[in-house]
Amino acid sequence: MSLLEVENLNVTFPTPDGMLHAVRDVSFTVQSGQTLGIVGESGSGKSVLMQTVMGLTHGARITGQAYFEGQDLLTMTEAERRGIRGARIGMIFQDPLTSLHPHYRVGWQIVEMIRAHGRQTSKRAARARAIELLDHVGIPQPDQRVDAFPHELSGGMRQRVMIAMAMALEPALLIADEPTTALDVTVQAQILELVKWLKDEIGSAVVMITHDLGVVAEMADTIMVMYAGGPVEWAQRRTIYYAPHHPYTRGLLSSLPAGERRSRLDSITGQPPSLITLPSGCPFHPRCPFVMDRCITERPPLRQVAGGNGDGSHRSACWLPIDAVGLGEHVDEQRA
Ligand code: SF4
Ligand code: MG
Repeated sequence: MSLLEVENLNVTFPTPDGMLHAVRDVSFTVQSGQTLGIVGESGSGKSVLMQTVMGLTHGARITGQAYFEGQDLLTMTEAERRGIRGARIGMIFQDPLTSLHPHYRVGWQIVEMIRAHGRQTSKRAARARAIELLDHVGIPQPDQRVDAFPHELSGGMRQRVMIAMAMALEPALLIADEPTTALDVTVQAQILELVKWLKDEIGSAVVMITHDLGVVAEMADTIMVMYAGGPVEWAQRRTIYYAPHHPYTRGLLSSLPAGERRSRLDSITGQPPSLITLPSGCPFHPRCPFVMDRCITERPPLRQVAGGNGDGSHRSACWLPIDAVGLGEHVDEQRA
C-alpha cells in the first residue's frame, strides 16, 4: 500500500467566465519515506492539487480518489480529516504569517497544536517540548523565543517555527508548498537543509511543491512536472535533470542559473494558458519550440518514455518520439 495514492483527480471551480479546470486528471503515489517534488509555474495546479487532497479547497467540484494510509481522504468527514492534518500529515506554506496566529506567542501555538491532537501531556511538558522543538530547528535562545510573537521573528525564523510545528507530531507525510519562496537565497538553503535533516530523522515522506526545479534538485526522489493543471512529465530526479523528455521540463531546466545546466534551449517564453479555455491539442503547444501539426489537434497522453527502467517510471505527455530524451541532438534534429 502506498502512503498516499491519488487517482484521476479533477478539480474544477465555477467562475463567471465558465468552469475553471484547476487540476486535470492527476494520478500519482508517494511511498513512505520518499520525497516527491511537484514542479510547475504558478497556475499549474500544483497547490490546488495538494490542498484538495488535504480537504482545503472550497467551492470546488472534485472527482477522483485520494487515499492516505488506505483511508479515503475525499469522502471522510471534516473532523476525521482534521485528525489526520497535523498528526499524520504536516504542512508548511510559503508565508508562515498566514498560518501562524499573529496574536499568540509562537510557543503557545506549538503547545496548543500538540495538545489539540490529543497527546496526553501537561501544559508544562508541552511547553518544554516546544522549547526543545525550537532548539531542534535551529532557533537561537529557544527558551526566550518561545514567548515571541510571530512578527517579532524574521521570515526565516517564522518558517523554522512552522517546520517545528509541522514536525512536532512526527507526521508520516510532510507537504511543503513553496516553503522558501519568500526567503532570501542563504536562508532558503538553510531551510531546505533543515527539511531534509528532519525528514531523515523522522522518516517522513515529503511532497515539495515549487516553481523552481533547483529547489528539489537536492532532495526529491521523484519529480512530477505540471502544466495547465495536468502532469506533463514524471520521472526519477536524475532522469528529470539529465534526460528530460518534455519540452516544458527542458525549458524549466534551462531557466536554472548558468553553471547548473548547459542547454541550447532558450527559456520558455509566453504565459501559461487560461485554465478556463485551454489551447486545443497539447496545452503547451503555443509556447513549444518543437510544435508539430499533430500537437495542435491531439492532446498527448502521459506515456512511457524509452530507456529508464522500462517500468513506466519515466512518463511524458508529448508527441515527440519516445527516445527523444536529453538536452542534446535528438532535440535539435526535431527542430531541423
Ligand atoms: Fe511540444 Fe508537441 Fe510535445 Fe506539446 S506535444 S510539448 S507541442 S512537441
Ligand atoms: Mg501555489
